[in-house]
Amino acid sequence: MAFDYDDNNIFAKILRGEIPNNTVAENDVALAFRDIAPKAPVHVLVIPKGKYVSFDDFSANASDAEIAGFSRLCAEVCAKEGVGLDAGNAGFRAITNAGPDGVQEVPHYHLHIMGGRMMGPMVL
Ligand code: 5GP
Repeated sequence: MAFDYDDNNIFAKILRGEIPNNTVAENDVALAFRDIAPKAPVHVLVIPKGKYVSFDDFSANASDAEIAGFSRLCAEVCAKEGVGLDAGNAGFRAITNAGPDGVQEVPHYHLHIMGGRMMGPMVL
Protein backbone atom coordinates (compact mmCIF):
# COMPACT_ATOMS: atom_id res chain seq x y z
CA MET A 1 0.00 0.00 0.00
CA ALA A 2 1.56 3.26 -1.08
CA PHE A 3 -0.10 5.41 1.54
CA ASP A 4 0.42 3.58 4.86
CA TYR A 5 -0.45 6.07 7.59
CA ASP A 6 1.54 6.23 10.85
CA ASP A 7 -0.82 7.05 13.74
CA ASN A 8 2.17 8.11 15.85
CA ASN A 9 3.28 10.99 13.63
CA ILE A 10 3.47 14.37 15.35
CA PHE A 11 0.51 15.93 13.52
CA ALA A 12 -1.70 12.94 14.42
CA LYS A 13 -0.79 13.67 18.04
CA ILE A 14 -1.66 17.35 17.56
CA LEU A 15 -5.05 16.36 16.08
CA ARG A 16 -5.70 14.08 19.08
CA GLY A 17 -4.82 16.93 21.45
CA GLU A 18 -1.80 15.08 22.87
CA ILE A 19 0.57 17.88 21.80
CA PRO A 20 -0.36 21.59 22.01
CA ASN A 21 -0.48 23.78 18.93
CA ASN A 22 -0.90 27.45 18.14
CA THR A 23 -4.15 27.31 16.16
CA VAL A 24 -4.82 29.97 13.52
CA ALA A 25 -8.09 28.61 12.11
CA GLU A 26 -10.11 25.39 12.07
CA ASN A 27 -13.17 23.90 10.41
CA ASP A 28 -14.82 20.47 10.28
CA VAL A 29 -12.19 18.92 8.04
CA ALA A 30 -8.95 20.83 8.55
CA LEU A 31 -6.75 22.56 11.13
CA ALA A 32 -4.30 25.43 10.61
CA PHE A 33 -1.57 26.16 13.14
CA ARG A 34 1.77 27.97 13.33
CA ASP A 35 4.94 26.10 12.39
CA ILE A 36 7.09 25.48 15.46
CA ALA A 37 10.21 26.66 13.56
CA PRO A 38 8.92 29.43 11.27
CA LYS A 39 10.92 30.16 8.11
CA ALA A 40 9.06 33.44 7.46
CA PRO A 41 7.08 36.02 9.51
CA VAL A 42 3.94 34.11 8.48
CA HIS A 43 4.43 30.34 8.48
CA VAL A 44 1.23 28.37 8.95
CA LEU A 45 0.68 24.65 8.37
CA VAL A 46 -2.73 23.53 7.13
CA ILE A 47 -3.54 19.86 7.68
CA PRO A 48 -6.59 17.72 6.94
CA LYS A 49 -8.19 16.04 9.97
CA GLY A 50 -8.38 12.79 8.01
CA LYS A 51 -5.48 10.35 7.84
CA TYR A 52 -3.66 11.28 4.63
CA VAL A 53 0.08 10.89 4.23
CA SER A 54 0.76 13.31 1.41
CA PHE A 55 -0.69 15.67 -1.18
CA ASP A 56 -1.23 12.88 -3.68
CA ASP A 57 -2.86 10.62 -1.05
CA PHE A 58 -5.21 13.47 -0.04
CA SER A 59 -5.97 14.44 -3.63
CA ALA A 60 -6.73 10.84 -4.64
CA ASN A 61 -8.62 9.65 -1.59
CA ALA A 62 -10.22 12.54 0.33
CA SER A 63 -13.89 13.33 -0.25
CA ASP A 64 -14.94 16.38 -2.24
CA ALA A 65 -16.14 17.94 1.03
CA GLU A 66 -12.73 17.43 2.64
CA ILE A 67 -10.93 18.91 -0.35
CA ALA A 68 -13.25 21.89 -0.52
CA GLY A 69 -13.10 22.47 3.24
CA PHE A 70 -9.31 22.25 3.21
CA SER A 71 -9.06 24.86 0.45
CA ARG A 72 -11.51 27.19 2.18
CA LEU A 73 -9.46 27.02 5.36
CA CYS A 74 -6.33 27.91 3.37
CA ALA A 75 -8.11 30.99 2.05
CA GLU A 76 -9.20 31.88 5.59
CA VAL A 77 -5.58 31.62 6.78
CA CYS A 78 -4.35 33.89 3.95
CA ALA A 79 -6.97 36.49 4.84
CA LYS A 80 -6.39 36.28 8.61
CA GLU A 81 -2.62 36.46 8.29
CA GLY A 82 -2.73 39.47 5.98
CA VAL A 83 -1.12 37.82 2.97
CA GLY A 84 -4.15 37.16 0.74
CA LEU A 85 -4.08 38.90 -2.63
CA ASP A 86 -7.77 39.84 -2.63
CA ALA A 87 -7.14 42.37 0.16
CA GLY A 88 -4.24 43.93 -1.73
CA ASN A 89 -1.53 42.16 0.26
CA ALA A 90 1.87 41.23 -1.12
CA GLY A 91 1.11 37.52 -1.38
CA PHE A 92 2.57 34.29 -0.06
CA ARG A 93 4.08 30.95 -1.01
CA ALA A 94 2.18 27.69 -0.51
CA ILE A 95 4.22 24.49 -0.76
CA THR A 96 4.00 20.85 0.20
CA ASN A 97 6.77 18.30 0.50
CA ALA A 98 6.03 14.65 -0.34
CA GLY A 99 8.13 11.59 0.45
CA PRO A 100 11.90 11.22 0.55
CA ASP A 101 12.63 13.17 -2.64
CA GLY A 102 10.35 15.97 -1.43
CA VAL A 103 12.14 15.86 1.97
CA GLN A 104 8.87 15.43 3.86
CA GLU A 105 9.58 15.37 7.59
CA VAL A 106 6.10 14.69 8.99
CA PRO A 107 4.09 11.95 7.21
CA HIS A 108 0.69 13.62 7.53
CA TYR A 109 -0.24 15.83 4.57
CA HIS A 110 0.35 19.53 5.27
CA LEU A 111 0.50 22.68 3.22
CA HIS A 112 3.00 25.34 4.28
CA ILE A 113 1.64 28.88 3.84
CA MET A 114 4.51 31.34 4.15
CA GLY A 115 4.60 35.10 3.75
CA GLY A 116 5.44 38.42 5.33
CA ARG A 117 8.67 38.72 3.34
CA MET A 118 9.72 38.20 -0.24
CA MET A 119 10.53 34.54 -0.82
CA GLY A 120 13.66 33.46 -2.66
CA PRO A 121 13.57 31.84 -6.07
CA MET A 122 12.30 28.24 -6.24
CA VAL A 123 15.75 26.66 -6.45
CA LEU A 124 16.62 24.14 -3.78
P1 5GP B 1 7.89 19.00 6.13
O1 5GP B 1 9.38 18.95 5.98
O2 5GP B 1 7.33 17.67 6.56
O3 5GP B 1 7.20 19.57 4.93
O4 5GP B 1 7.60 20.06 7.27
C1 5GP B 1 7.29 19.73 8.59
C2 5GP B 1 7.15 21.02 9.36
O5 5GP B 1 6.56 20.72 10.60
C3 5GP B 1 8.47 21.74 9.62
O6 5GP B 1 8.41 23.05 9.08
C4 5GP B 1 8.57 21.74 11.15
O7 5GP B 1 9.11 22.94 11.66
C5 5GP B 1 7.12 21.55 11.58
N1 5GP B 1 6.96 20.86 12.85
C6 5GP B 1 7.60 19.73 13.26
N2 5GP B 1 7.17 19.36 14.47
C7 5GP B 1 6.24 20.28 14.84
C8 5GP B 1 5.43 20.43 16.02
O8 5GP B 1 5.48 19.65 16.97
N3 5GP B 1 4.59 21.49 16.05
C9 5GP B 1 4.49 22.38 15.00
N4 5GP B 1 3.62 23.39 15.14
N5 5GP B 1 5.25 22.26 13.90
C10 5GP B 1 6.11 21.23 13.81
